[in-house]
Amino acid sequence: MSDNFAPDYIASLTAYSSAKSEKLSGSTWLNANESPFTNEFELNLTNLNRYPDPQPEAVISAYASYADLAPSNVLMTRGADEGIELLVSTFCRSGVDAIAQFIPTYGMYKVTAESANVTLINLTQSDLLEASTTELVEKALNAKLVFICNPNNPTGSVVPLKRIEEIAYAFKDKAIVVVDEAYIEFCDELTAAQLIKSHQNVVVLRTLSKAFALAGLRTGFVLSNQTLINTMRKVLAPYPVSTVVASIAEQALSPCNINSMKRQVTILNNNRETLISTLKQCIKVVKILPSFANFVTIKLSDKCYITKAMASGLIMRPFTLYGEDDWLRISIGSEQELNVVFNWLMEING
Ligand code: PMP
Repeated sequence: MSDNFAPDYIASLTAYSSAKSEKLSGSTWLNANESPFTNEFELNLTNLNRYPDPQPEAVISAYASYADLAPSNVLMTRGADEGIELLVSTFCRSGVDAIAQFIPTYGMYKVTAESANVTLINLTQSDLLEASTTELVEKALNAKLVFICNPNNPTGSVVPLKRIEEIAYAFKDKAIVVVDEAYIEFCDELTAAQLIKSHQNVVVLRTLSKAFALAGLRTGFVLSNQTLINTMRKVLAPYPVSTVVASIAEQALSPCNINSMKRQVTILNNNRETLISTLKQCIKVVKILPSFANFVTIKLSDKCYITKAMASGLIMRPFTLYGEDDWLRISIGSEQELNVVFNWLMEING
């Protein structure tokens, strides 16, 4: 089948190669920033003949209370990825508008822009931290959405809250500043969620895929003021969240499970520091990016070490960063999984 029926901007795309779509075979999975923890839930399957609540009330109010916002500030989606899509389809006109991002950053902003025929404006992570806000506004041209990933995937770096506020203020009436907080639980004092109350152009994206250990559930949240949330609801599919998903999300957001998520975050943050000190001792690791999330990104002296790890069943995520293809992102797993990384490091250290 050719792409005959698709418009040119779709036909010219290549499908996004996610950490999971690559069909690798392995025994230790540290390539998708998943949590190593598995938590237990109960299911009642007697009501599946009925359509679900389009926005399950119990989940919305539990998440609002967790984020210290009102239920009217919360929209539940199929992962933060659907939040990104929804923002682009709601606020950008195909073939006319643009979005801006700070590279290197999460790949789905680009993929979503391209599949919606929306122009992508690339600013840099140094622009994000250092450029004057006037310069940022100039460089962002006609962007309707400015994506800030905080902590940033794949570098692990963070932007101070004060800086995000300055940027939101600079883009007032010009663009929506979208703060992607997929990894925020690993450094929760940096959240921009409260800016929603004072800035009309701030949107925060959240997920249960990372710290909440529910990547398989496909649940995310869009947080914003009621006006923007209501506008996005016009575009959202009628029943985006299944009954089963809503029930598990509700349980995951109970006070007891939120506490258990916080304990797991402490363990993972400690594991990250242990990994970093071990990486520092490996002479084949030439750069380690400081990270505030559940992964660490490093540059190796030779990319053949990545192939070696893959061949032994240790799957991490190779990256091309700054034009160099010898970068590697290591997700923070359990102690046992990190021991597999330590063994690989010892082996390549020779
Ligand atoms: N934002 C960032 C920065 C991510 O790294 C990811 C997942 N890799 C997402 C959003 C999407 O998360 P979800 O699983 O909720 O769609």
